[in-house]
Amino acid sequence: IIQLYGPLNWFGNYYRVIQKNFVDMEKMLDLLQELPEVKDLPHAEPLTVQKGEVIFDNVSFYYDPRTPTLKNISFTIPSGSTVALVGPSGGGKSTIFRLLFRFYDVQNGRILVDGQDIRHVRQRDLRSCIGIVPQDTVLFNDTIRYNIRYGKIGATDKQVEEAAEAAQIHDKILGFPDGYDTKVGERGLRLSGGEKQRVAIARTLLKNPQIVLLDEATSALDTHTERHIQKSLRRMTVNRTTLIIAHRLSTIVHADQILVLQGGEIVERGKLIKDTLFILFISLTL
Ligand code: ATP
Repeated sequence: IIQLYGPLNWFGNYYRVIQKNFVDMEKMLDLLQELPEVKDLPHAEPLTVQKGEVIFDNVSFYYDPRTPTLKNISFTIPSGSTVALVGPSGGGKSTIFRLLFRFYDVQNGRILVDGQDIRHVRQRDLRSCIGIVPQDTVLFNDTIRYNIRYGKIGATDKQVEEAAEAAQIHDKILGFPDGYDTKVGERGLRLSGGEKQRVAIARTLLKNPQIVLLDEATSALDTHTERHIQKSLRRMTVNRTTLIIAHRLSTIVHADQILVLQGGEIVERGKLIKDTLFILFISLTL
């Protein structure tokens, strides 16, 4: 427990670290159980992130040795570009997120961020350069201001509001009974799925990470909300290395590269614009 605690005690306790980095706890994994699997090496190096290029180099991974989850996965996300992951449920999309965030170590191959093997660097550094927008964002029973500021604890009110504006939720907040001081969450004002996702986007904009992982919501949104979300997503992903678990054609169309993941393998890869057949293929797999 000391080993686990050591690298994390800069933040007080590790539960809060987890919440900060990965708010969608229930879905992504049972964190408290799974966190101890990965530790900093005794002489873990600082991670130097300049461009934010991500490389999966022949990665294989299993949760249980009897069932391989990812098989020989190789892809590169050039700095600032967007890769969309699509494919049937259970194909391994979320696992790719978990590995890049280093909740687990790969059994084969390696994952590089700007050329550095993520197993050799400090987790704190790795996680501070990655922003995550989960499918279903958990809001704390606190003000909307607090909930957005969570992306960067020391942010000023002005920065919080600028982030909200860029995430297309500022006007909405001004319409709440107490504006930014309105209590939200289970015991406060309930926000819709689309609004919660925009809170997560605002948090990420405040955090300003080089790399963004986005688990796109599957729920249907009305056209108006959809347009707002797409606009704020583009604000968030521009010039950031982005990996999206994509469910919407509008997102897929904007990706620089599409990977179709099935049964733990990349069964197809390409670009929409170039290959119309690919559109058909994707609409069949989604
Ligand atoms: P979905 O679109 O439904 O979220 P996915 O493509 O993200 O699916 P993963 O969640 O990465 O798929 O799961 C890939 C495989 O690994 C599945 O067969 C799943 O059952 C298995 N799996 C996921 N998490 C664990 C775990 N913690 N322990 C054991 N097996 C797991």
